[in-house]
Amino acid sequence: MADSLTLPHLLAEHFDVDPSPLVAVSARYPMRITPHTLKLIKSSGDPIWRQAVPDPAELVADDLPEDSLNEAHFSPTAAVVHRYPDRALLLVSGACPGYCRFCTRKSRVGTSTLCFSAAELDAGIDYIAATPSIRDVILTGGDPLLLEDQQLCEILDRLCRISHIEIVRIGSRVPVTLPARITAELCQQLRRFAPLYLNTHFNHPRELTPASAQSCGRLVDAGIVLGNQTVLLRGVNDNAATMAELCRGLLRLRVRPYYLHQLDQVKGTGHFRVPKAQGLAIMAALRGQISGLAIPHYVQDPPDGSGKVLVMEGGV
Ligand SMILES: *Cc1c(COP(=O)(O)O)cnc(C)c1O
Ligand code: SF4
Repeated sequence: MADSLTLPHLLAEHFDVDPSPLVAVSARYPMRITPHTLKLIKSSGDPIWRQAVPDPAELVADDLPEDSLNEAHFSPTAAVVHRYPDRALLLVSGACPGYCRFCTRKSRVGTSTLCFSAAELDAGIDYIAATPSIRDVILTGGDPLLLEDQQLCEILDRLCRISHIEIVRIGSRVPVTLPARITAELCQQLRRFAPLYLNTHFNHPRELTPASAQSCGRLVDAGIVLGNQTVLLRGVNDNAATMAELCRGLLRLRVRPYYLHQLDQVKGTGHFRVPKAQGLAIMAALRGQISGLAIPHYVQDPPDGSGKVLVMEGGV
């Protein structure tokens, strides 16, 4: 983490790029590129670059909202988003190993607005404990695996002691962008919280590196069930061949493709948008060509916050 690039001018040491137009972008939306991700970039504008490097297009004025999913409306207490009766998000960390340029929470990640105090976290866990309809808690943020092992285990311990909580999930991009964080010690600790699910976030087959494969292998060997959520992104994975290679590669890592997300309507991400017709064509091309196990559900999250729905031919 300490060796990550957080300032655009450092990019010029690695690539033939003029960093000055990127300074204003990174001042608005934080930049962080881990050494692991940096090594995966082959050239400016490639699929890894597009995900990680600030782009002036992020500042182009658009009419899109910053809180695309109307999360504030579904937040009974600061660190909780409770949209479905039986599932709730607990936002446990405000930071990420790398800041994805297409992130739904891009105006909040890496800033104090997503950094909750111990008291706010306690209030979140109290809310979950007092709400018996919640069976499934999803730790997110930010990235929960940026917590210290001990902090993370303490939260998991407290959740597991709540009798109506049946499963806990972690949403984390750490296996992709900071695989060295998945230590044997961490996995040994996480073992005892079964049934524990972890959805990670690979978007391109080049991210399926030996280091990421090892980190996923360690998690699975510790009894954690792994899924993957991919975002459909222009210039990254917006064609059937790339998507098929990604999804097949995930199965080899014992990671089940779970969702393919239509990009949320978020300010500063319009340059990543792929039309739904193109997403549907990619899904149609996957069907029958690769193992059914490798095929994710193609979903969108409408801006009113009404919850995820399948993207379908003729749908809204
Ligand atoms: C996506 C999401 C969930 C989890 O939904 P699943 O379809 O069960 O994976 C839960 N709460 C919120 C607010 C979400 O956006
Ligand atoms: S890791 Fe997830 S939460 Fe963090 S910036 Fe990327 S998409 Fe957003």
